[in-house]
Amino acid sequence: MNILLLGSGGREHALAWKLAQSPLCDRLWAAPGNPGIAEHATCIALDAADHAAVIAFCEENVIGLVVIGPEAPLVDGLADSLRDKGFAVFGPSRAAAQLEGSKGFTKDLCARANIPTGGYVRVSTEADAMTSLAKFGAPVVIKADGLAAGKGVTVAMTMAEAEEAVRDIFAGRFGEAGAEAVIEEFLEGEEASFFALTDGSTIVPFASAQDHKRVGDGDTGPNTGGMGAYSPAPVLTPILEAEAMTKIIAPTVKTLADEGMPYSGVLFLGLMLTREGPKLIEYNCRFGDPECQVMLLRLESDLVELLHACAENRLGAIEPPRFSDDTALTVVMAANGYPGTPEKGGAINGIATAEAGGAKVFHAGTALKDGQLVASGGRVLNVTARGVSVTEAQARAYAAVDAIDFASGFCRRDIGWREVAREQD
Ligand code: ATP
Repeated sequence: MNILLLGSGGREHALAWKLAQSPLCDRLWAAPGNPGIAEHATCIALDAADHAAVIAFCEENVIGLVVIGPEAPLVDGLADSLRDKGFAVFGPSRAAAQLEGSKGFTKDLCARANIPTGGYVRVSTEADAMTSLAKFGAPVVIKADGLAAGKGVTVAMTMAEAEEAVRDIFAGRFGEAGAEAVIEEFLEGEEASFFALTDGSTIVPFASAQDHKRVGDGDTGPNTGGMGAYSPAPVLTPILEAEAMTKIIAPTVKTLADEGMPYSGVLFLGLMLTREGPKLIEYNCRFGDPECQVMLLRLESDLVELLHACAENRLGAIEPPRFSDDTALTVVMAANGYPGTPEKGGAINGIATAEAGGAKVFHAGTALKDGQLVASGGRVLNVTARGVSVTEAQARAYAAVDAIDFASGFCRRDIGWREVAREQD
């Protein structure tokens, strides 16, 4: 089968690496891809926002499966345009992708389906937002409704911070994404991510992971797209996973199907493990980045078979995904300046040396300039390794990091710290 993969980050490098290993994959294209993806796929310039161009490419190249990596094309309805033309697509429709595209949509769905999540109010004016803030009191969480690349959320510890966040949103800081907002109850606990595949009726658990959002060691500094992750997340025990499946994922999939927006693809749950059990913080409608990298390193099943079965509504007819029992951990190497303005063009050497020790280095923001690999984005490399424990995977990943020469980059030195501390206890 010919496959088209859309996207250009570390998540898509991991997807390309795993898709290309499948005997079911004849030819793999990636748009736009990156130099790491180019080792497994033919990279092409194709704009995911130009649906007609994507359809024309799929027709010309007899594409049997389209895998959409990032959220923006899903929220923009690319899966619908392709399905209308008869193509098999891994990824939800525009209607179902509202789970990520509108925080208010998801909160309302949780309310209708009795799904455990924080209390909330949807607001569309600054005055209403201020009235709600006063009712919740601090700490409180303020969220722009739409996609804001992780920047539209403020966890306010004081009323002054909360009021500033509200003013920011309604002053237009997030454009259309901030036309509405959600004021939400502050939840206390440890966060974990959980992933499940569904074709709209069958649901299969995929894997758990924990990421590290803050830029600095000890979870300090501003939020980022994610500075590292590991999988599985032992804090999400089998009992808690089962609870997330029955109390959160199953009613979500059923409600969406009942309401005429069946969800097909991967469901990515951001969970808060509270004293009352797991509560939903957010849904994403695609694989996490960098969670995807660590999950795929452990995946033993054929990824093409899984994603194709999802796309063709026959997930119930195949074996559920199998994973190795070990841990995978990834360290994000970022360009100096990230998450502000990252320094571009810094030379990167030593990837082959790093991989010779058994690690896998996924490219996130790299480019080739006159034959030299250079940084071209904020998050640049995902240095990923496996081990029998988080402690061992961490040691291997950092040994690989230390073999890489990227003078204008940095990374956190403590990815996996929570679990390493628990393992040492
Ligand atoms: P991203 O896509 O970058 O993960 P997002 O913009 O979709 O983020 P959320 O995941 O909803 O936003 O929130 C971002 C972070 O804010 C969460 O990972 C969590 O740490 C914190 N957060 C969100 N909601 C709550 C809540 N109700 N209580 C406590 N913390 C919260």
